[in-house]
Amino acid sequence: MKQTVRDFFKQFPDDDACLAHLFAVRYGQDHVCPKCETSKGWYRLTNVKAFSCQSCGHHIHPMAGTIYEGSSTPLQLWFYAMFLFTKSRNGVSGRELQRQLGVTYKTAWRIGHKIREHMARVDGDDPLGGAGKTVQVDETFIGGYEKGAYGGKGKAIVLGMMENGGDVMTRVIPDRKEFTMFPHIAANVAIGTEIHTDEHGGYSSLGDEPAYTHKTVNHRKDEYVGTSGQTTNSIEGFFMHLKRTIKGTHIWVSKKHLHKYTGEAEFIYNRRNAPETILTDLLYGYPKG
Ligand SMILES: [Zn+2]
Repeated sequence: MKQTVRDFFKQFPDDDACLAHLFAVRYGQDHVCPKCETSKGWYRLTNVKAFSCQSCGHHIHPMAGTIYEGSSTPLQLWFYAMFLFTKSRNGVSGRELQRQLGVTYKTAWRIGHKIREHMARVDGDDPLGGAGKTVQVDETFIGGYEKGAYGGKGKAIVLGMMENGGDVMTRVIPDRKEFTMFPHIAANVAIGTEIHTDEHGGYSSLGDEPAYTHKTVNHRKDEYVGTSGQTTNSIEGFFMHLKRTIKGTHIWVSKKHLHKYTGEAEFIYNRRNAPETILTDLLYGYPKG
């Protein structure tokens, strides 16, 4: 079910409701107190954003260990910022957050980045592929406004791995050498997978690798689908959307922060068949207490 702004404010009418939600998701009334080892229940303290053990008075701070830790921004604004992220297909810029939340640009920028980090963590990194499955692997250049840069120089490189009909995973990499790319593939693509790439030299030893079946598509010959159906069209489509988002919404992102934007794009893409779960996943995907 699509969540409207009205639904959102009904569920989270104020900061207390947000903190209670966070406590319930991470700990809950049954949580065994780490100090007295009983579970007599917990009550909200009045002047602190914390809950206290009924039995011994031990405090739990639900925001600790989450992206909200140490933030003076009201929790409801954080939750609302997440709501805004889930409403937009092309991401939310710092300026847009600033406008919608009524905070400074610096705060808005920080909230945006923290939410992207949260998305990447909630999304996780389960291995792709496996026996009978296919993973497309490709890399792309993003940005490149370094002074005097030409060709790929100064640009950031993103390696993408996408299971056909499944999830996508990205890594920001310093170069396209096999030495750089192969460890990411080995760590994230399960044994027995059929891997499709273009004929870039960085992938050439995949063919000698007994763990995988490697098929290539020859882009220089304008080939987009090979004779045995091999293609990298899906991962290229993901890259196109990623670039459009960065250019259209954020104009430019630095190499240093690029992995957060790719993490956001992954999180959203991996929920493409169930967009209604996006907000729930974010609001329930906290580390357990
Ligand atoms: Zn206790």
